[in-house]
Amino acid sequence: MNLQIDSDRLSAEIEELAKISEVDPPAVTRIVFSPTDLKARAWLIARCEKAALAVRQDPIGNIFARWNGSEPNAPAVGTGSHIDAIPNAGKYDGVVGVLGGLEAIRSLQRSGFRPKHSIELLMFTSEEPTRFGIGCLGSRLLSGTMTPDAARKLVDKEGASLEEVRRKAGFVEPLEDVELGSVYYKAFVELHIEQGPLLEQQKVPLGIVTSIAAPASYKLIVEGAGGHAGAVLMPERRDALCAASELILAIESAAKTSGAVDTVATVGICDVFPGAVNSIPSRVNLTLDIRDTDLARRDTVMRGIEAARDAIATKRNVTIREEIVNADAPAQCAPAIVDALSQACSKYHLASMKMVSRAYHDSLFMSRIAPVAMLFIPCRNGYSHRPDEYASPEDIARGVLVLAETLATLAS
Ligand SMILES: [Zn+2]
Repeated sequence: MNLQIDSDRLSAEIEELAKISEVDPPAVTRIVFSPTDLKARAWLIARCEKAALAVRQDPIGNIFARWNGSEPNAPAVGTGSHIDAIPNAGKYDGVVGVLGGLEAIRSLQRSGFRPKHSIELLMFTSEEPTRFGIGCLGSRLLSGTMTPDAARKLVDKEGASLEEVRRKAGFVEPLEDVELGSVYYKAFVELHIEQGPLLEQQKVPLGIVTSIAAPASYKLIVEGAGGHAGAVLMPERRDALCAASELILAIESAAKTSGAVDTVATVGICDVFPGAVNSIPSRVNLTLDIRDTDLARRDTVMRGIEAARDAIATKRNVTIREEIVNADAPAQCAPAIVDALSQACSKYHLASMKMVSRAYHDSLFMSRIAPVAMLFIPCRNGYSHRPDEYASPEDIARGVLVLAETLATLAS
């Protein structure tokens, strides 16, 4: 098998797709189901059909472009990512995995390779949370991580429901038809820019992801008693901000002492009420974002935080309520796919390093129904979600080459 990546055509396609945007170049904005997003989808489908792939779309707008294998009923090998982009984003986030996946398939076609398992390119709907406030909408529904009922409750900032918006975009079948089940894919591999600086710093062209960290986020509401800053004496106080301060430090210490560098916990919002110079804080709202690559460890840290919370509440005579916003489980990548990626790197004498994905991707949710792994390529300065996001054509071509080789191994 002699694989040749058409880097010129791929670069031209990345540029062409970047022009389908709501803002001027180099910035890219493509919000799910906007006229721009629909135009980009039509453009992508045309490219897939030109490559003789059989295209279908599901009721949430996930696009599947399939190269049928000699055993078309056997589980498929999937690859892909997203093409939606947050306001003022760059050209490469997600796009490298979709157009790179397409070029990987075309390079296999040109080489004369014939897959036994079908190879399928997937474009996930709304990986970005911009419109409906939740990321990875398409992959959450595909994997059954989100129920159709929960999806039907989603509303955008203009008050339009997801049901309304998707129907208007031409997707009218029931959301119940989206879930794929666990025998659909034999394996799923996502190519993506790193969105961090490690590969560039280490001068390694490829990163093989072995686990994907996932966040859990909570609201913490501390309720004490307000009062006049002069009249209420210290022994009588139930200051909500003082209690919140202790809790924030307890959170930091719980994450630091988990025993693993992969545990991170952040309090990013602290709203104080009533927020006056001469008034004792009666209530504080905090947010907690806690991430790890290991669910059990993340849970243990969370239990530690909860014990500290109860102790602080008792000691300071305040109440502290906790509301869970979301808690997705992290994913471990499938050793067989990680090995296939490593072997593909070795075959082409390309250095690679094993790494953790600290951002989450559609692959996190695909891991609920299929063995997954991810392949990272460097991006300049680690910049992402900004107009100067950049990955070089050489780095992209290396990623596509290793992806193509890995797809061939998995589909044989
Ligand atoms: Zn992305």
